[in-house]
Amino acid sequence: MAKRVYLFNEGSKDDRDLLGGKGANLCEMTALGLPVPFGFIITTPTCREFFEAGNKLPHLLEQEYRVALDLVEKKMGARFGDPENPLLFSVRSGAPVSMPGMMNTILNLGLNDEIAAGLARKTDNPRFAYDSYRRFIQMFANVVLEADGEQFEHEIEKYKAAHGKRDDVEMSAGDWQEIIRIYKTLVDFPEDPFVQLKLAVEAVFLSWHTPRAYVYREMNNIPETLGTAVNVQAMVFGNFGDTSGSGVAFTRNPSNGEHSFFGEFLFNAAGEDVVAGTRTPLPVSALQERLPEVYAELFRTQAQLEKHYRDMQDLEFTVQEGKLYMLQTRSGKRTGRASVKIAVDMVREGLITESEALMRVSPEHVESFLHPMVDPEQKTEIVATGLPASPGGATGSVVFSAEEAVEVAATGKSVILVRRETTPEDIHGMKVAAGILTELGGMTSHAAVVARGMGVCAITGCGGLSIDYAAGTATTAGGVVIRRDDVITLDGTAGEVMLGDVPKTEASSSEDFQILLSWADEHRRLKVRANAETPEDAAKARELGAEGIGLCRTEHMFFDAERIDQMRGMILAENREERQRYLDKLLKFQEEDMLALFRVMDGLPVTVRLLDPPLHEFLPHSEDDMVALAGRINKPLEKIRAMTESLKEVNPMLGFRGCRLSIVHPEVTEMQVKAIISAAVRAIEEGLKPLPEIMIPLVVNVREIRLISEIIDRGIQAVMKEKHVSVPYKIGTMMETPRAALGADRLAPEVEFMSFGTNDLTQMTYGFSRDDVGKFLPMYLEKKLVESDPFVTLDQRAVGRLLEIAVSESRARKPGIKYGICGEHGGDPRSIQFFHDLGLDYVSCSPFRVPVARIAAAQAKVRRETEARRT
Ligand code: PEP
Ligand code: MG
Repeated sequence: MAKRVYLFNEGSKDDRDLLGGKGANLCEMTALGLPVPFGFIITTPTCREFFEAGNKLPHLLEQEYRVALDLVEKKMGARFGDPENPLLFSVRSGAPVSMPGMMNTILNLGLNDEIAAGLARKTDNPRFAYDSYRRFIQMFANVVLEADGEQFEHEIEKYKAAHGKRDDVEMSAGDWQEIIRIYKTLVDFPEDPFVQLKLAVEAVFLSWHTPRAYVYREMNNIPETLGTAVNVQAMVFGNFGDTSGSGVAFTRNPSNGEHSFFGEFLFNAAGEDVVAGTRTPLPVSALQERLPEVYAELFRTQAQLEKHYRDMQDLEFTVQEGKLYMLQTRSGKRTGRASVKIAVDMVREGLITESEALMRVSPEHVESFLHPMVDPEQKTEIVATGLPASPGGATGSVVFSAEEAVEVAATGKSVILVRRETTPEDIHGMKVAAGILTELGGMTSHAAVVARGMGVCAITGCGGLSIDYAAGTATTAGGVVIRRDDVITLDGTAGEVMLGDVPKTEASSSEDFQILLSWADEHRRLKVRANAETPEDAAKARELGAEGIGLCRTEHMFFDAERIDQMRGMILAENREERQRYLDKLLKFQEEDMLALFRVMDGLPVTVRLLDPPLHEFLPHSEDDMVALAGRINKPLEKIRAMTESLKEVNPMLGFRGCRLSIVHPEVTEMQVKAIISAAVRAIEEGLKPLPEIMIPLVVNVREIRLISEIIDRGIQAVMKEKHVSVPYKIGTMMETPRAALGADRLAPEVEFMSFGTNDLTQMTYGFSRDDVGKFLPMYLEKKLVESDPFVTLDQRAVGRLLEIAVSESRARKPGIKYGICGEHGGDPRSIQFFHDLGLDYVSCSPFRVPVARIAAAQAKVRRETEARRT
């Protein structure tokens, strides 16, 4: 039978899967000789056994952990359940993957009336003993007995009000005893410490399935099957008096990445007080002033841990009567800007390699270099200030609860979630908020940690704010009343709150960011192009590192007011002559636009897709639209009405679009080819190097390609002959119907490149209409009928399978074909790994995703290289 219980001196940091991250690191710190209160860990496989047995602990588990417990008692010189010399435990969860704040913790376990009295005697500190006892009952009732936590706080408030007390520090031992008496009337609390321990272990396992843990796992792609370990650790106390306290610290600044020890400390407080954010802590330097030796030891320890782990660490520690204890170390969560700075600095410091640095930055974090910041020039009056918990600027309508946030965000509005503090129960609201503002809590409070992880702008510890949930108001110290639905702006970088919508500047890069991107470019194999149509977007894309245009949706070039009417006229034309008139006008626009793109993308490929307009997007929708259009293009209203009617489709997404348009109206393709090649000729005459790649959309068979290629070739030859200039060009096809993918070997001889349109390919593989999926996909996600939105992350099982078949069969038929992706998945980091593995040549995504894709492409390669080295 596998061992289920490990003492802290029996494991190491490499045992994450078995002992959970927290447990493995406690073992590692113990092995390093650091002052860790001793304890034991119940393994994650035991959690799975527990679930498999229908939420029952394995038969022999208690026997096993009692043996471990004896050894902990010996080491700590105290006994669990002994009133004369009591040993108390903290019981915490610890999954293999860090899930901060997600799982339940129970502190001071092992107390009852008799043992609390013993603790009071032994410590000669009855106030501490009874405060600890009431905290324990409160936590135990809340976590294990699932009692309503609010009622306990309410009883304390009631008691304080009745006895004229304001703060907890004014509560005496006798007051806490009275509170304990009241608590015991509210819940049936087990007095036997061993029963407490067993119930606590069960509760930790069960907490794996709480809705908040579930949401966190879903957001972070943590598998449901992992399970959690249970850490049972001897208690030390930060609330013992003035030479005691609790703190959290980071070995570098988690907000901006600076290499300076950064942390917060609360004197005479338990660890939960710091994390809960109910009191605003002091900077850790306060410890240097009041307990210099403790600070010196802590400083040495943090440096040792960072060097040992070769990464920025997030530490939890307690000082009990002037002695330091380390309770936790883990890789610290950090902002995007901090993660880049830390990664680049650590390479400079010789701590990690470039490849490792690349893996330390999450592709999503890269976006913080690309997100808006409040424009310093445009700031309005600052009505409140708090801690700059998570950077960036955000504007939105004020809501006061997570539920409201979800409701309002669903209407398409940007929301700012304003809370006294946040708890894991608020995750779903935080997830949809543009910004988060809390009255309480420090830089390491729940709101701050979670918002930073999500990359959402946040201000915490906004102490001047007084929030009234019932009235739906937040009143600033200066008396400004912010009401529900008011629009406010947060500057998460400065910690400032402003009224109204304050303009924001475009996100700025940094030198470190550019260095990291240059490493990404050296390490990746996949090229990264952009989906862009306008010269502005193309220029942005090139600035952000795009190596060409992978998709120019030509129909988007006709979206602006002046052009759309010509496009509509062309679509509604009743005969070839009438259509030609509009095409002649469109040709001019098209040629100028193409020239502008060739100028921006000089020397880089520009993939131009032939017109693929879902017709319904271009047709006039209402009677008013038709009347207006009739006037503008000088066409009788009846004719417009009749043509619109005749072009209406039952399934526009499966209708008259893509290359079907070229088949029915070859003159449209002729115009486009003429425009593209004429523009290329002009670019060459300007001394530039245009590299047009013409792409045929929505193909289903080889005959379509042959027919359209002929039109394209004929058009190109005609222009080149007329202008006496030779233009290098390629003809390729989009791969966006299942039939094209399954018949790729037949298409291959006809083309030089294939670009997967995974938007349509996903639509047609699933049979989920791209335009209607919003009505049912949320329910599919909620009920876990699909793992993730297949329009965001490529479905590898079926859509991916089609890609595999298409690539392997077409490559076998015609080696040397270039393969790309131009659906939305081209910018999705998880999908990029798949495209790398498949051996594609490039991904193409929206300009702002380009840096993310560059990093993700490098990570895809480094990940595989690292795996190959391991095996
Ligand atoms: C696609 O279908 O993936 C694609 C890129 O084309 P569009 O989104 O324009 O249909
Ligand atoms: Mg498409």
